[in-house]
Amino acid sequence: MKILKGVRIWDYPDTRSTDITIDNGKIITIEDSMLKKIEVGYNNFESSEIKTIDAEGLYVLPGLVNAHTHSPMWPLSGLIDVANFARATSDGNQNLHADATTFRSWLKIVQKAEMSITPDDVKLFSILTYSQMLLKGITTVADFYIHLNSLAIAAIDSGIRAHLVRGMIDRLDAGIVNRNDDERYNRVKDRLNDCGNLHRKWQGTGEGRITIGIGPHSPHTCSDELLIGAAEMARDLSCPLHIHLAEDVEATRRYRAENQGVVRHLESLGLMDTKILGIHCCHLNEKDMDILAGYANFWVVYCPYSNRQLGVGEAPVKQMSQLGINIALGTDGAASNPVMDLRMDGQMAAETLEMSDRKRVRSMSLAGSDALGLEGGKIEASKLADLVLVKDLSAFLGGKEEPVHVFVNGEHVVKDGRCTLVDMDELSDRAKERKAELMEGWGLNRQGNKKGQKNYTGV
Ligand SMILES: [Zn+2]
Repeated sequence: MKILKGVRIWDYPDTRSTDITIDNGKIITIEDSMLKKIEVGYNNFESSEIKTIDAEGLYVLPGLVNAHTHSPMWPLSGLIDVANFARATSDGNQNLHADATTFRSWLKIVQKAEMSITPDDVKLFSILTYSQMLLKGITTVADFYIHLNSLAIAAIDSGIRAHLVRGMIDRLDAGIVNRNDDERYNRVKDRLNDCGNLHRKWQGTGEGRITIGIGPHSPHTCSDELLIGAAEMARDLSCPLHIHLAEDVEATRRYRAENQGVVRHLESLGLMDTKILGIHCCHLNEKDMDILAGYANFWVVYCPYSNRQLGVGEAPVKQMSQLGINIALGTDGAASNPVMDLRMDGQMAAETLEMSDRKRVRSMSLAGSDALGLEGGKIEASKLADLVLVKDLSAFLGGKEEPVHVFVNGEHVVKDGRCTLVDMDELSDRAKERKAELMEGWGLNRQGNKKGQKNYTGV
């Protein structure tokens, strides 16, 4: 059991300090006199050891929830600059730099680069990303990728709470990759079996910190069979389903031209009958949003920083908010958001939606927690003890100050601004070394230049 002594609750109207008692991963009590009660013999807790953390004068707020990222993309953080550089110089060679002028081309670059990332790389880059997130107050991450075994180990070791989503693709834009029906059927079956196995293996592990989601990548990269199977599995396992939705303007237009639009398409396949997180939603029109407004189980995950970096368009979150559609926030991966600081997305969302600081904090914490089906996002008894302690609330929200302490599931994972479970210096060195090797393989030198070019240092 731990007592955070002398904290100020971030949204209390007065600034009086209080004690928060946490035990077994949850907030147990919030009251001024808990320490005195314990001194006179009060003990109603599961653990016998009592640890007091002097938090006098610090503000406590719920941990931030990053509802969408791809953490193993850490070494791809420079590729957006490579794409911009290629555009600026009209570099059109048949290599990694080629044709990097649109979202589609950027995606091709990323997919090509990702082919050389191994399961060990996933573990290394994810544990670094998770630790960097903890240092910025992100206590939960929804991570959409493959190699979930590596992600789960990284999450358990770093101390973060992770909702791991097995991404699935069985089709490219031009058509189904595997041309005969048996092959396609087996591919769908394999993907879904893998999800079921991962759920059996990891759900609830790491003292309950690991949960599993189902991730058909997007409507245009998944066959209807895969989308239907994913929705059935999400319902059977009571897992949220995550899908990239209307990020790609061309694909969204095609759905609109061919049938009633992408949202109606998902509805017809049964996806809207699951708890569903639609990532991005940049190109939805009024008809799409009207349908979504009828589903309280739908959450848009707004990733404004990534969307602006990629120039894919602004999600119509103002209209969505007016229609009562749930909105959570995500950073997306480093390939489109090198800073991966949810506070940046919170700031952008606050400007677009004209949110007060109170609403802004909730959009970064409670909204994501609810979207992922977690009992967190509030400083209340019985809620998850995922807490961030800061000196100055507005400096923290503005990204000018990092947390002093961070707790996840009641564990003290950041103490006096440093990660307690990993050696960040050693981890960063290893990750940088491996990134340099990968970049050599991608045709980029250590400064990120295309070999032989001196005037670019963006990576
Ligand atoms: Zn994504």
